[in-house]
Amino acid sequence: MPGRNLVNDSLIDTLIVGAGPYGLSIAAHAQAHGLSVRVIGTPMDFWQRHMPAGMLLNSEPFASNLSSPAPGSSFTDRHPGWPMGQPIPLRQFIAYGEWFAEHAVRGIEKVQVQHVQAADPGFTVTLSTGEEVRTLTVVIAIGVRQFAHVPAQLSALPRELVTHSAEHHDLSRFADRDVTIVGAGQSALETAVLLAEAGARPTVLSRKDHLAWNAIPLPDPSWTSKALRGPQSGLGHGWRTWLWSEHPATTRALPDRTRQRIVKNTLGPAGAWWLRERMGHGVTLRLGERIVEAGTNNGRVRFSTVTTHGGIHLSQTDHIIAATGYVPDIEKITILDPDLRRRLRLRHRSPALSRNFESSVPGLYFAGLTAAASFGPVMRFVHGSSYAAQRIADNLVKPRRSAPPKAAVPPVQPDKSVATK
Ligand SMILES: Cc1cc2nc3c(=O)[nH]c(=O)nc-3n(C[C@H](O)[C@H](O)[C@H](O)COP(=O)(O)OP(=O)(O)OC[C@H]3O[C@@H](n4cnc5c(N)ncnc54)[C@H](O)[C@@H]3O)c2cc1C
Repeated sequence: MPGRNLVNDSLIDTLIVGAGPYGLSIAAHAQAHGLSVRVIGTPMDFWQRHMPAGMLLNSEPFASNLSSPAPGSSFTDRHPGWPMGQPIPLRQFIAYGEWFAEHAVRGIEKVQVQHVQAADPGFTVTLSTGEEVRTLTVVIAIGVRQFAHVPAQLSALPRELVTHSAEHHDLSRFADRDVTIVGAGQSALETAVLLAEAGARPTVLSRKDHLAWNAIPLPDPSWTSKALRGPQSGLGHGWRTWLWSEHPATTRALPDRTRQRIVKNTLGPAGAWWLRERMGHGVTLRLGERIVEAGTNNGRVRFSTVTTHGGIHLSQTDHIIAATGYVPDIEKITILDPDLRRRLRLRHRSPALSRNFESSVPGLYFAGLTAAASFGPVMRFVHGSSYAAQRIADNLVKPRRSAPPKAAVPPVQPDKSVATK
């Protein structure tokens, strides 16, 4: 903790940690309710620095909207006529997020939250500037990065040789090198394709013995096709997918084990339909193999795999990228004071949340991946941000509506730090 803390005695209504799709959407709704809100984080930072350049979004345009009560601020409002089935380039989505940050949210502060601890009332939040902020409520919208999962067989190897896919934006550094990508989801397959297109020699290695591909969306499906496939929703086709996608409150009411199974299995590892053809150029596949041991050898990785038929292979590669996903774990949210973490009631290492996204610590809210254990798989995607933002903002404003206004509500931070394009 910095030694020269500047204590700000004014009490604000809420502080939002993170300025990704969830943090920005929650901020837009909370500010529209007239709450004093501080939003801490660089807008769309994870998308800018931790996703591969040249990536295309997997979500359809209507499922890639940030949420604001102000009309005209959804992706589809900003890009009318963007057809279903035409993937959105990463840079276009980042530009949209930055536009949203500039026009739909006030006073974003491009600094970090370092520490959150309980106070009376509310919380004290320490920023990377050394400032201590007093706030009645805190919304944790920190996204996925700290939950990046690297399999145990690889986690002890040096970072020059083994990285998680979240560590890469510019893949051109791998030109002319053998790179093994572990995983079979969209991130693994798209990273492999982009590596091949950047002049590397990628190999996808997965314990699954076949790759799964998402169906091509039909912009104007026939009645028969609709009946066969079920409705189109933010997470894909089918009635069950529609339920998890559009009705997170119902998903929350399901028995815990059922919901956990849904979170695990919905939209399991699969590639986007538009990636399939590009896979054919320069990507080697090794399916039905699992890494059991790995080490180093003359600046390369040597590793052993076991096949589904029990065969053992020894291999070498210049670099391994683990595209092995994100596993939420409350112990990895180290900005939360240990005392707060201890007080949280948990569901599968994520906080158990009320129907308003509030944890068992009153005033402490969670949104995004950490809310998936309570609200289901839609919270892993941008599409869930609209539901989360409205519920959280509506709940944050309740005490304000039932109590007389506080004596001193400080203004939101000056606009000088507002995100710019
Ligand atoms: C390769 C890849 C592709 C994806 N493609 C899609 C897609 O096409 N469609 C889709 O819906 N979803 C996609 N996702 C999932 C996507 O990551 C989430 O839907 C989305 O990012 C959730 O938004 P968020 O605001 O919760 O998280 P984020 O976008 O990660 O935003 C959280 C922000 O909080 C910041 N932060 C963290 N800690 C602090 C701190 N202490 N202080 C200040 N700021 C902090 C982070 O820097 C980050 O910018 C993809 C994920 C990956 C990895």
